[in-house]
Amino acid sequence: MTTKTHSQRMAAKKSVIDARIAKATEERGVVILLRGNGKGKSSSAFGTLMRSLGHGKTGAVVQFVKGRIATGEHKFFQAHTTIPWHVMGQGFTWETQDKERDIAAANQAWEVTRKLLQDNTIDMLVLDEMAYIFKYNYLPVEPVIEALRQRPAKQTVIITGRVMPDALVDYADTVSTVKDDGHAFRRGVKAQAGIEY
Ligand code: ATP
Ligand code: MG
Repeated sequence: MTTKTHSQRMAAKKSVIDARIAKATEERGVVILLRGNGKGKSSSAFGTLMRSLGHGKTGAVVQFVKGRIATGEHKFFQAHTTIPWHVMGQGFTWETQDKERDIAAANQAWEVTRKLLQDNTIDMLVLDEMAYIFKYNYLPVEPVIEALRQRPAKQTVIITGRVMPDALVDYADTVSTVKDDGHAFRRGVKAQAGIEY
């Protein structure tokens, strides 16, 4: 391959990309889904939130599953910001013994979330592990999509979870699937502070 061919190809590529950039003129909040079985969904969501706060924007977090241990991100954001952070999954259990209690917890989490989706002072809302409540049919997805439609135009919402309902995938602006191509856990490495939580 000659240098000339390469630069011609690059110029052609640049003009395609420039045309796309010229067409993307809208400025508004977006709905981002981070799904899949690989590691990196929640950490991407909190990284984006940090990026947004760095630009002086406002944010809030709702975590739908309560971890056993305080996460590093919760500690960090509590120490360095004053953003609202709700850990809502107290009722959830992995091996559900009490479905009614889980549904009540899901409804409680949704009440908090619904208010944040109406709050035009919140620029970025992270709904961590929200997909879990759809997977177990603790809440229908339609009212959630309706609330997303009605949210303030500038508000960005990031939802994480392994499996997302199709309707939510169709509605979202940006969907990234994190693939599991290997995990230290399968090499016998335990969940470590600062890496897993
Ligand atoms: P992270 O919070 O590190 O970005 P995640 O949000 O993508 O991970 P979850 O599905 O929420 O992952 O899983 C929660 C926990 O399980 C995290 O501690 C994560 O590191 C770990 N984990 C994620 N993917 C895997 C995997 N494929 N095998 C084992 N553990 C995993
Ligand atoms: Mg996660």
